[in-house]
Amino acid sequence: MIEGVLRAGTYEWEVPVGFVPNMRVPGRFFLSEDLGNTLEAGAVQQLANVATLPGIVKNALAMPDIHWGYGFPIGGVAAFDMTEGVISPGGVGFDINCGVRLVASPLTADDLAGTKRRLIEEIFQAVPTGVGARSSIRLSNKDLTGMMTDGTRWCVDHGYGMESDLAHSEEGGAMENADPDAVSAKARQRGLPQAGTLGAGNHFLEIQVVREILDPAAAAAMGITEGQVCFMIHCGSRGLGHQVCTDHLKVLEKATKKYGISLPDRQLACAPVDSPEGRSYFGAMACAANYAWANRQIIMHEVRRVLTTIFDVAYEDLKLVYDVAHNVAKYETHQVDGRQQEVCVHRKGATRAFGPGAPDIPQAYAAVGQPVIIPGSMGTSSYLLRGTEIAMNRSFGSTCHGAGRVLSRSQAKKEVTGKELREQLAKEGIYVRAHHDSVLAEEAPGAYKPSDEVVRVVDRVGLSTLVARLEPQGVIKG
Ligand code: 5GP
Ligand code: MN
Ligand code: MN
Repeated sequence: MIEGVLRAGTYEWEVPVGFVPNMRVPGRFFLSEDLGNTLEAGAVQQLANVATLPGIVKNALAMPDIHWGYGFPIGGVAAFDMTEGVISPGGVGFDINCGVRLVASPLTADDLAGTKRRLIEEIFQAVPTGVGARSSIRLSNKDLTGMMTDGTRWCVDHGYGMESDLAHSEEGGAMENADPDAVSAKARQRGLPQAGTLGAGNHFLEIQVVREILDPAAAAAMGITEGQVCFMIHCGSRGLGHQVCTDHLKVLEKATKKYGISLPDRQLACAPVDSPEGRSYFGAMACAANYAWANRQIIMHEVRRVLTTIFDVAYEDLKLVYDVAHNVAKYETHQVDGRQQEVCVHRKGATRAFGPGAPDIPQAYAAVGQPVIIPGSMGTSSYLLRGTEIAMNRSFGSTCHGAGRVLSRSQAKKEVTGKELREQLAKEGIYVRAHHDSVLAEEAPGAYKPSDEVVRVVDRVGLSTLVARLEPQGVIKG
């Protein structure tokens, strides 16, 4: 273990006050011995830096998928008091509301035999992918405002979904306090042509089969059965969110000075949550988050449409299990030291994991807790988990967001070529589709931590518990 880090439990480690100067609270992270070699000293230092920020509550936290990010580590969770605390774009990330949704179908693995390739190719045609992917949907500025304020609701009202999709999403598919006036013309310009596009790199659309049910009662409540075909969609707010982050970082760098906040790293630029600059960033971030929900909703609509043309299934049979954000800041109320406290929770590469009975969980899941969707990689298992009471008490209702990167993109490309990887996965029955093989190597399974071990840690600690294991069958990469 990194020098100065203390063991706090079988899977828990403490970064004590003093690890870097001016820490207000200790850092805490969750990791197993097996994942020890994946831990970067730089990411631990970032966690300690976060603990220096004004108004931080309890601990700066990180999940087993922790790795180095912009200012804050990825896999990080930090909650700040609503009056004393700050909000920071670095604690959310550039891809605001990058997130994942899981769609369950009535199809089984047998239905894919012989049609998998056609299915992937048709979805690939229907969903624009790649860095500058442009949508076939022509949005007016009014439409974009509607998307930024109403998220999934805008989509359902415009024919891209059904009423029941709304409840099956974190925040009902739209955050409150979205402020379109805080979104620049440039951000709008980037967002207009990109609604319903997957983007590039780490983003994907995957056909999966449920291979193992680990919690039968919860799986039943979520409509998940062994052998079932599911679709996982991972993308975010595209150029719009990136521009919102870039624009507001400039404002918050000035605000940091204005409010006399001293930082160990300027990438932690921030402002008091309750300041004009802090509120303005939140309002713009909520717009980008709502745009991301609309984006995933439109992509899901296209998948449903394609499926109804290939298989004997109805649009309504393709059910949204849930949609989670994993790059976002939220105003929430949590129990802290025996009392209710209003906090601004930053989840950066971390997933909300609200337990049974918590607010904002659809009726159908009230007894089992919020579905938590954790992607693995294009060659390893992804998982469905559920939120817990322990998460509410320990991590502001949060858990990990994925396996987490271990190799940089350039390192990953040295290990394997895209062509080799595509051929290797084809032998395992996994059909991968991208515009260029070159993008695949960066996303090789070996570039990520083992997903099995990452979810085992959060399950053991109880920050979310395992419901089902899904294996990739076909992958569309942006
Ligand atoms: P991020 O949002 O940090 O870019 O990615 C979230 C997680 O998605 C990564 O930590 C990784 O575990 C997972 N992931 C990346 N590419 C793929 C893929 O092609 N398929 C699946 N199932 N997971 C992936
Ligand atoms: Mn993501
Ligand atoms: Mn993303």
